[in-house]
Amino acid sequence: MVFAALRMYIEKKRRFLHTFPMKLLLAQPRGFCAGVVRAIDSVKETLKLYGPPVYVKHEIVHNKHVVDELRQKGAIFIEDVEDVPVGSILIYSAHGVSPQVRKEAKKRRLLEIDATCGLVTKVHSAAKRYADKGYEIILIGHKDHVEIIGTKGEAPEKTHVVESEEDVDALTFGKEDQLFYLTQTTLSLLDVKKITQKLQKKYPQIRSLPSSSICYATTNRQLALASFAKKTDVFFVVGDPTSSNSNRLKELAALEGPSAFLINDETEITPSMLEGAHTIGMSAGASTPESIVQRCIQKLQEYGVHEIEEVAYKKEEVFFDLPKNLRQMMNSSSQNRKEDTSPF
Ligand code: SF4
Repeated sequence: MVFAALRMYIEKKRRFLHTFPMKLLLAQPRGFCAGVVRAIDSVKETLKLYGPPVYVKHEIVHNKHVVDELRQKGAIFIEDVEDVPVGSILIYSAHGVSPQVRKEAKKRRLLEIDATCGLVTKVHSAAKRYADKGYEIILIGHKDHVEIIGTKGEAPEKTHVVESEEDVDALTFGKEDQLFYLTQTTLSLLDVKKITQKLQKKYPQIRSLPSSSICYATTNRQLALASFAKKTDVFFVVGDPTSSNSNRLKELAALEGPSAFLINDETEITPSMLEGAHTIGMSAGASTPESIVQRCIQKLQEYGVHEIEEVAYKKEEVFFDLPKNLRQMMNSSSQNRKEDTSPF
């Protein structure tokens, strides 16, 4: 009885939706960035070389689908280095780790493979360099995010995490203090602009890197979305609720006007989300596989989308090489294989 009523309700919704010719606008670029591809490939190649288990500090990227797939292949995700057996392989995730974690890994004689994104490493290096020169580091980002925890670890005594404009108000440095600011790589461009303007007004002597610490992928995905979100009635961001850049995309879409939803995959799309919509927008966070986006598109087509258009903002041609020691291990393994099959 309940099931029959439910079926009737869904059918009614479908019929209602199909009376509108719905169009889907797809952001380009969307989904995987070069840092995420490198991190995932690092785990896959290490598994191919050594077989399971391979330990990974923190979820390699913030996406349940990616993490589940790697777990099935033999990756074990850990938070505490003490959970890794002495002498095992430990891979660092794209978000990076603090120097304390590296120290702990060396004590346990782990083989470390560093899949930290190069753009996160750049922020770590700047934090260390300027703290060593005597600067106080103002680190803009989310206190509990692994990237911020890792970067703060470079100079814990000299680093002050700022999440909002109110946090800037609460800072008590003087005009004579040497200050340097950095940001998490995956923040909202708009939020960071407001915070840095406030910082620069309060502390005109504050310095920073010549280019923003917000990475190219975060920037491009936000600008691509902003270029057309106003034209849509409903906007879907495909991404994990733990993914910082996916959350920022959803917030940005909501600011532009449409009803905005952050969805993990197609199972979260319901007919009621599409009620009255003519134009639907879609983008995906930097840790979302394109296969999940395609499943969402298919679901929208089942619900009545008849036309799909890609809105190209920028072509991305960024590629990051695998970690150096992993490449060396891959080379020597293929060398050994060649020697084994050589008749001489
Ligand atoms: S989102 Fe940016 S910082 Fe993070 S892995 Fe991708 S490119 Fe690197």
